[in-house]
This record gives sequence, structure tokens and C-alpha cells, in this order.
Amino acid sequence: MELASYADRAVSLVNTADPYRHRDTLTTCEQAKELLATEGRCRVTNADVAELRAIRDRLREVFDAAESGRVPRAVQVLNSLMKQYPIRPVVTDHDGASWHLHLAEGAPTIAAVYGAKAAMGLAVQATELGFDRLGVCQAAPCREVFIDTSTNRSRRYCSDRCATRANVAAYRARRKEQARAAAAAGEAEATAAATAAAGAKVMAGSASAGR
Ligand SMILES: [Zn+2]
Ligand SMILES: [Zn+2]
Repeated sequence: MELASYADRAVSLVNTADPYRHRDTLTTCEQAKELLATEGRCRVTNADVAELRAIRDRLREVFDAAESGRVPRAVQVLNSLMKQYPIRPVVTDHDGASWHLHLAEGAPTIAAVYGAKAAMGLAVQATELGFDRLGVCQAAPCREVFIDTSTNRSRRYCSDRCATRANVAAYRARRKEQARAAAAAGEAEATAAATAAAGAKVMAGSASAGR
């Protein structure tokens, strides 16, 4: 497994919450188990849920800071995460499996294992691709995060669904603007006609007065 692929854990964890629409799908042990399915069988406690939520807040800050160009802040938060959740690689063949790598052996909690992998993966991606590749969805009010791996650094949305939604909204806004411009033009035309009519009346009036 490539180290960079662990960054997916950071994205998945951050996207369990949508603070702007008050959605949160990481509040119970069952939900945490779902998120932690990548870690294999594990026992999950309420303390793990709380720890994952705390890690989530800090990862969110990394994405938000990177998105708004505050790279030093993103680096600071990411480094503090890696310091608290260091990776401790060990090669093992436990339980008859073939030799494989455990990244966070001996971490005190399953949340810590997840946090170590997520922070490490995100750091690898951010340094190899650039911090500007850490994105926050531009289809408001969605604020889900993503890592832009497109070749032309053009990704703006978390998903195809949000891209479609944004395109439809932009199309509607354009139509509305066009309708408004057309109405304004019609109004101007009517005003011009009224002015011309009034002018004609005045001319007619002055003409008759002159007689
Ligand atoms: Zn193993
Ligand atoms: Zn989105």
C-alpha cells in the first residue's frame, strides 16, 4: 500500500461532519466502527469516538487553512498531529498472514492508529502534490474536503453531484440575470417611448400656443 493512499483516511474522517449544515455521522461507536473498517476488526469505545472527533477538527483545520492560502497554519496543525500520533512501523506476519507492514504498532488506541495513518498520508500528499491540492468543495453550502489529483489542478468540487449542482445553479443565475437585463431593457424602451410621446405632446402644445 502506498503511503499517499492513507490520505483517504483524512478525507473520510473530515467528511463525516458537515458543520455548516449540521450533519454529523460520527457520534456513535457503530458509526466509528464503519469508519474504522479499514483497520480490520477492532473494539471501539466512546473514548475512541471522542478522540476521532478531536482529530477530525484538526484535520478540517488543515484543509481550511490550505484552501485559504494559509499554508504555514496548515503545516503547523499537521505537524502537531503527527507529533501526537507518530507512526511506528513494524513488519509482521501475525496470525499466519504474509509479511506486511503495520504503521502504528503499539499505538494506545484504535483512534490513535487511524489518526497516525491519516496525518501521515495527508502529509505525504500535501508535500508531494502541493498544499494547494487540499481542497474544500466550492458548491456552497457543501464544505466537504478532497485532494485534487487532477493533472491540471482544476478540481473545485467534492463530487460529481456537487459539480452538477453548482453548474445548474450557475445556469439558473445566468438565466435570471439575462431575464433581468431584458426586463430592464424593455423598461428603458418604454421610458424612451413615453419620453418621446411626452416630447411630441410638448411640441404639439408649443406649436398650438405659437399660433
Ligand atoms: Zn496485520
Ligand atoms: Zn460538495
